[in-house]
Parts: sequence; structure tokens; C-alpha cells
Amino acid sequence: MTPGFDHSYAGLGSAFSTAQAPDPVSAPQLLLWNALLAEALGWSGTPDTHPEQLQALAGNQPLPDTQPIATVYAGHQFGQYNPQLGDGRATLLGEWVTASGDRFDIQLKGAGPTAYSRGGDGRSPIGPVIREYVVSEAMHALGVPTTRALAAVATGEPVIRNRIEPGAILTRVASSHLRVGTVQYFAMTRGGDDVAELVDYVVARHCDPAKLNETPAGSAAAVLLDSVCERFAKLVAHWQVLGFVHGVLNTDNALLCGETIDYGPCAFMDHFDPQACFSSIDRQGRYAWPNQPGIMHWNLAVLAECLLPLIAADTEIAQQTAQEIVDRYPARFHAHHQHWLAAKLGLDEVTANDGTLVQGFHDILAADQLDFTLAFRWLTEVANDNLPHSPLPELFSVPDALNDWATGWQARRSANQGDTHAITAAMNQVNPVVIPRNHLVQRAIDQAEAGEIKWIETLLERGQSPFQWHSGDLEWARAPEPGERVTRTFCGT
Ligand code: AMP
Ligand code: MG
Repeated sequence: MTPGFDHSYAGLGSAFSTAQAPDPVSAPQLLLWNALLAEALGWSGTPDTHPEQLQALAGNQPLPDTQPIATVYAGHQFGQYNPQLGDGRATLLGEWVTASGDRFDIQLKGAGPTAYSRGGDGRSPIGPVIREYVVSEAMHALGVPTTRALAAVATGEPVIRNRIEPGAILTRVASSHLRVGTVQYFAMTRGGDDVAELVDYVVARHCDPAKLNETPAGSAAAVLLDSVCERFAKLVAHWQVLGFVHGVLNTDNALLCGETIDYGPCAFMDHFDPQACFSSIDRQGRYAWPNQPGIMHWNLAVLAECLLPLIAADTEIAQQTAQEIVDRYPARFHAHHQHWLAAKLGLDEVTANDGTLVQGFHDILAADQLDFTLAFRWLTEVANDNLPHSPLPELFSVPDALNDWATGWQARRSANQGDTHAITAAMNQVNPVVIPRNHLVQRAIDQAEAGEIKWIETLLERGQSPFQWHSGDLEWARAPEPGERVTRTFCGT
């Protein structure tokens, strides 16, 4: 099959989206192009050598076969229901279908106002575009399901926020942009109109058809809810063990496909802070690191409420079925989380018996404000007898408490069952050397604002192999100096 655009979501009709051409910009310039992603998608040509592609990614001239739309959704923002949101600064060019039949939304973010802009300018400053590009691509390399970045283009036009900033457009690639908030719009705002059609669409696009056949007829909604339950549990467990704080886990930022979306105020923690919260607008810490698993459970419950009428005709049966599925979430999260923890600590499994050991490690990290990423990497090098051969001793000093703890940890490891060599070696694949630390992301933004792209390209390249040591890692892997620490993040969009 030749890769190309398709428009199945636009085909659902005007209740779901509005035709919306991107708004042209005056002086587009290519900032970043993701050649590896383009290759994986089977995208031919690059904006470097094909000026028409640059024009298309800036929204100036449509690519052949695109049919741009803005989609409508709703969502709970910080717990408050907003009955109508939508793509206010994004247009969906269409779905790119690869040679093997995989389907991806291709969206221009920052491409001008739409029917859902609510008075906003539909634009994005360069800073948030760079942040999303760098962090989403790093997440992908770390193995976390995420939307991706195909290109960043400077518009040549200013964007007015707290200050005047250069504008940019991100070309975002996602398995789809369908959100809990998309279902909410039809179920809650529109009183149930078209929910069935939407659910059938999402299930056909994102769920295993075999699951549909397993269950009694009419339960596509239950299949969807159960799939989303599993995806959320898995995704959040992964965020937690990487120290990733999303920052704005509103229901409109929770994708049904289970990919991470919206890199607004997100941040990775440097030193371990069990209450880590970076977003300047999250004053109550609603979306703090320890709350993420619970918040995604809450988001799942909102989805369940929307789906009730489709789960079963009988209200009681519908409620019971939905509740059973929502109740699976904590155990699923726990299983994924324990699995990750075991892998990161080089243990065959983490059981209730290991609770004191695991807690002891986190307590030392918290008490001494040790770097979260480097602490796990220290364990990795120690377990693999690689400490003297790695740059780690120069990056991480070990307090006595941690050395003492490690004695108990090694004793526990010697009781590992199974292929102990493989368990130890595998620590290298789950404990990263480099993550997109806040001070690196901030430097990337500062450079982009000053028109410098070279350093960002080097950062992106380094981020592609996060689990290996490279020369120069004394710089890429180090924790921030006190003066470099970024402790507050801003949406800035
Ligand atoms: P977010 O905080 O990025 O999840 O966005 C929340 C809502 O605000 C979405 O409906 C966005 O489309 C909309 N929005 C954010 N920034 C802008 C902007 N500059 N212009 C128009 N709409 C925007
Ligand atoms: Mg959003």
C-alpha cells in the first residue's frame, strides 16, 4: 500500500469537526525536522529540499490530499467541566496511513484560529513548540507511549503573551487525538447525541477487534473502557518510575489511545521529591507526581460515566459493569508499577516482602535530595560491576545511608530466582542515563528564541539513546547546579 492521507474522522460529519484551513504565515523557516520519524511513516521528501513541504507545514499551502479540520471536544479542567473546548490552535491535516496500514493523525499546532479558539489567537510561541518537540521525542526514546514531533517551523511572526515572542508551528503525530474529553462533549454537552457513533469509531481504530467478539453484542463501550483502563494504568506507571510530572492531567489531555499528550507545564524531577509539582497554575498540587495515578483513575471514571448508556440498556447492569472495569484500574496500575520497580532495582519481582527495602531507598533519596535518575543508574552500574568504567562517580556522590542500604539490597538480589544475569543486565534498559532535564529544556528554549538550533539538534540526537553512556555525558547526564534548577514551569501557550 502506498502511504498517504485519509480522512476517516472528517468523514464522521459536521457534529465532530469543522473544516478549517490553517492561517498562512509571512516568513516560514524550518527549525527542526524529524528524519527518522518521517522515514518510519514513509513520508517522502523533506522540507529542506521540498519548499512546498515547508509551506505546507507552515500552513501556507495545503499538501495534496489533505483535508484540514479542527475537532471539537470538552473536558474537566482542574476538576471543573468546560462544556466546549476543541482544537483552538491546531488543525488536523488528516490521518497518515503507512504502508503497513498504521494510521496517525498529522496535526499542525499553532496554525491559527479555529471555530474553537474562544478568543485565543490560535498561535504558539517558539518556547512551547521546542519544549514539546524535545520532551515528546525523549519520551518516545525512553519507551513511553507519546505523541511525536515531525517538524518545527518558525512562522516569522510575533506572538504576544506576557512578552512578545517568536511564533512557531509544531507538526504533531499521534495515534489519534481522541480524548476522554471528546467522548464527554457528546455524552455530557450534547446529551448523548452521536456518542454511539463516536464509540464505534474509536473502538474500530484503537481496540482489538477480537475483544469485541468475546463480549455480548452492544458492548463496544465496555471494550473501550477496559482498553483505556489498561492503557492509563500502564502509562502512568511508566511516568511514575521515570519521575515524569505531566502537570495538567485534565480529561481533555487524556488520550483514549493511551499516548502522553500536552507537554505544557510538564517536567522530570531532578532530585527526588515525593510531592514534586512544577506547574505554576497547579497551586493545590492536584497534578503533583504522587497524585497522577489517582487522577487518571478519576479521568477513567469520567469516561465510564459518559459510556454508561452504551454499556447496557439496563441502568443497574450498566453501572455494575462500568464499576467493575473502573475498579480494575488500581490493581493494573500496581502490577505495572511493581513490574517496573523490580526491573529498575534488578529484582526478579517486587512483593509485599520488599516493601521496606523499596521504601527505604525512596526515603534516602528524599532525605538527601538525591538525583532520582542518577540514583537508579548508580544501582545499575553497581549491579553490573561497571561503576569504575562509567562516568557516574563524577556525577553522583553516594551518602553512607545509601551505601548501607545497598548491602541489604545486594543480599535481596542474591535471592533472585530465574536468569539472574539477564535481570541484572536488563537494568541498563530501564534506568536512563539522560532524560530531558528542565535546565536542558530551558536552554533549548533560550537557544531557539535566539535563533540558534545547532545545540538543540545535538540535544535531540543525544536523547535518542537514553540508556547508553556517551562521551560528553558529564554534561548531558548531570543534575543541574543549584543556580540552574528550574522548579516552576509555565504553560506559556
Ligand atoms: P491546553 O491547555 O493546551 O490543553 O488547551 C486548552 C484549550 O485551550 C484547548 O481547547 C486549546 O485549543 C485552547 N487554546 C490554548 N491556547 C490557545 C490559543 N493560543 N488560541 C486558541 N485556543 C487556545
Ligand atoms: Mg491540551
